[in-house]
Amino acid sequence: MKRLAALLLAIPLLVRPAAAHTPVIDAGHGGFDGGAVSSSGVIESGLNLSIALRTADAMRLFGIEPVLIRETDSALGEGSGRSAKSADLKRRVEIINSTDDAFLISIHQNMFGDSRYGGAHIFYKGEDARPLAEAIQADIRAQLDPSNERVSKPVASSVYIFKKASCAGVLAECGFLSNARDLELLGQDGHQKKLALAITCAYLRYESGSLVGSAGEG
Ligand SMILES: [Zn+2]
Repeated sequence: MKRLAALLLAIPLLVRPAAAHTPVIDAGHGGFDGGAVSSSGVIESGLNLSIALRTADAMRLFGIEPVLIRETDSALGEGSGRSAKSADLKRRVEIINSTDDAFLISIHQNMFGDSRYGGAHIFYKGEDARPLAEAIQADIRAQLDPSNERVSKPVASSVYIFKKASCAGVLAECGFLSNARDLELLGQDGHQKKLALAITCAYLRYESGSLVGSAGEG
């Protein structure tokens, strides 16, 4: 944590621009929709929630009050199955689009058929969000996982909430449930805190306008 502490201290005194965004933190899945499940039975939705709550805690330390799409292990809405899933996603979009100056931060975990692949991967929606995604990716590489050579990319156009959200945002795929090393790390409190801090520190730099191309006026 020493290096993370140094990173925190390196954050310039934060003068929030008038147009600062409200981060909307989306813990993916929840309730009947667990998302990906590891072969050992670890469910994505719980990890997403835990990292989302830790990210919100870290942001509050810096005076930023995020909107949390969910704070418990539940879906948004009733029932189960396809119609409930679609109602859940629509409700998430409503929350995002009804938040003034929203900036979406969606937390998920990856899953892949080949267990060799691992490492956090950060995606962005909108060129405005690209410097933030790249900063989170770089901080994760520097502070958590020097072997992570992933490069931030645009969120796939098929991802519903990003397609429907009227704001920019980032999608943090924090690791692969199909990779033994990631799975072990993702279950650790310390690792979850580091992920939350990496997201928060980069977000603070983004909002303070110190990332190239950041959307200070947006
Ligand atoms: Zn997911």
